[in-house]
Amino acid sequence: MFLWPWADRLGLQSELQYLPISAYPQQPSTARFSRCDRVALMQSVTIIGSGPAGLTAAIYTARANLSPLLIEGWQSGGQLTTTTDVENYPGFATGIMGPELMKEMRAQAERFGSEFVTGDVTAVDFAQHPFNITIDGERTIQTKTVIIATGASAIQIGLPNEKRLTGHGVSTCATCDGFFFRGKDLVVVGGGDSAMEEATFLTKFATKVSIVHRRDKLRASKIMQDRAMKNEKITFVWNSVIEDVLGQDIVTGVRIKNTVTDKTSELACAGVFVAIGHRPNTALFTGQIDMDEKGYIRTLTGTTTNVRGVFAAGDVQDSIYRQAITAAGSGCMAAMDAERFLEASD
Ligand code: NAP
Repeated sequence: MFLWPWADRLGLQSELQYLPISAYPQQPSTARFSRCDRVALMQSVTIIGSGPAGLTAAIYTARANLSPLLIEGWQSGGQLTTTTDVENYPGFATGIMGPELMKEMRAQAERFGSEFVTGDVTAVDFAQHPFNITIDGERTIQTKTVIIATGASAIQIGLPNEKRLTGHGVSTCATCDGFFFRGKDLVVVGGGDSAMEEATFLTKFATKVSIVHRRDKLRASKIMQDRAMKNEKITFVWNSVIEDVLGQDIVTGVRIKNTVTDKTSELACAGVFVAIGHRPNTALFTGQIDMDEKGYIRTLTGTTTNVRGVFAAGDVQDSIYRQAITAAGSGCMAAMDAERFLEASD
């Protein structure tokens, strides 16, 4: 999912020329509460989140005549709206832009009668049924079922140039972007399973992958460590943190600081893959629903949670796969689970 205009300069394969992400309109944004005022106070299905999981749940529940209400945040569309080229979503032989894919999914959900409200859910009450959901602290609706599809956010180091060069060599998804770095030197940041997995995956394309880790011991599981350590293309830069990401329009390297000696050095690379974990967007549900120690919602059978009538789909309950297609798949499952719940309770 990379910005293509600079791909040729890097010598990356680029038969496709796409518009920059800013050329794509953001998801249609409804006026504040203009539509919320129109929605019924009692819903059968309320979906929170408008990424692939939420929109797929909307498509399926709308087609089941459940007239779902989807609450999309002020920056709707999920993580795919901040990416560019999506080449691994089945059905698009030549790829599709992330925002375009989300626009299509939204239009598909709308076509079957899904209702959209733009606003942030500020409170939920799952203690009683039907459940209460408050939007922007101003309006509370009731709903018989809830599908939570609020996603997760990749944790970033927090450097200004990391943010500026995201999509221009900085990435948080090797599966998505690794392909574009054939024959390049890359840096992976982190010492957990994600970093090992991403680095190992990236060696399919890269000439060399340097794993920069802030300690001298990895957090990753033994098997993942062994795999990375045995890989001749991977080298480890221990006790080191990234101080800056270098490059004007595209990444050209990183400045590294050794945390033991305080010495800084520069390492040339074409890409920086930040793999220091993900944070599920679940703060809102604290105390309302079972989560694991990292804050991911625990799902039991299919997408059911410990609260009957509340379902969770996509990255908010998946710390492992985290792909648009797996999120969409679990959105479909959540829709079917909600439909069955409503049938059984009628
Ligand atoms: P993680 O286990 O939390 O590891 C994060 C790594 O990033 C740690 O090594 C940590 O360093 C480092 N880190 C955190 N903040 C940092 C910062 N600001 N600057 C530099 N380094 C930083 O996260 P994860 O690797 O994404 O794994 C998350 C979960 O998913 C784990 O349970 C993992 O087992 C699982 N997972 C499984 C697989 C698989 O089985 N195929 C693949 C990926 C993930 P410290 O070690 O010093 O804390």
